[in-house]
Amino acid sequence: MAKNSKRKKLTIAIDGPSGAGKSTVARSLAEQLGYIYIDTGAMYRSVAFRVKERGISPEDEWALTQLASSLHIVFSTEEGLTRIFCNGEEITSAIRTPEISRLASSISKQKGVREALVKMQREMGKEGGIVLEGRDIGTVVFPDAEVKFYLDAERDERARRRYHEMLEKGVKVDFKETQEELVQRDHHDMSRIHSPLKRADGAFLIDSTHRSVEEVVEEMVRIVKVRIQQIKCVE
Ligand code: C5P
Repeated sequence: MAKNSKRKKLTIAIDGPSGAGKSTVARSLAEQLGYIYIDTGAMYRSVAFRVKERGISPEDEWALTQLASSLHIVFSTEEGLTRIFCNGEEITSAIRTPEISRLASSISKQKGVREALVKMQREMGKEGGIVLEGRDIGTVVFPDAEVKFYLDAERDERARRRYHEMLEKGVKVDFKETQEELVQRDHHDMSRIHSPLKRADGAFLIDSTHRSVEEVVEEMVRIVKVRIQQIKCVE
């Protein structure tokens, strides 16, 4: 009998580059399925936030690992809004600046940081019924996830989305700079040694360039329902 045959609730992995729309669709998918939603990028951002606050060098792997292992990160999603708390302090908006984006990408190349956060993510997802989005969910965190997606979009569209997202949050940014930063960060995330961003084996590739959030989520829900049926057949 298959390992997950008794479990009704799945683990769903969504990976992809910055600005592909992962957070919005992952949150909506989780809401429709009644699943937990975890934004793993926010966890790397939380570490970056504390690194900046404490003046730790992004190259000091030992200090970064100690820090990442000691953080208590909690998510709360209500009415389409996800809030993040780190050691009891709400840091939802504070982690969404261009500086924290760059720093998160920089510290995420450190093996010790990744190991500490992957451990937390596996603990959060051990019961299933969860949608996790990030860069290494289908490849490293949950390679056995029942459904894996790789969400992509054309570079200019991703930059445009990121630019508008920042403006909506009241962060003043320049379009060209946003675009350059996104390209750099993706390059960094795809070329690092530990857990580089890539499409996981068996991941459904979805291009969101010319599609609305609703259309993308609809397709994902269809795929998930087929998978649920397949798993039921095994029982
Ligand atoms: O998804 P988001 O843009 O918030 O992620 C911020 C950074 O955290 C990424 O650029 C990447 O370097 C890192 N990250 C990662 N692995 C994940 C999620 C995010 O390395 N699973």
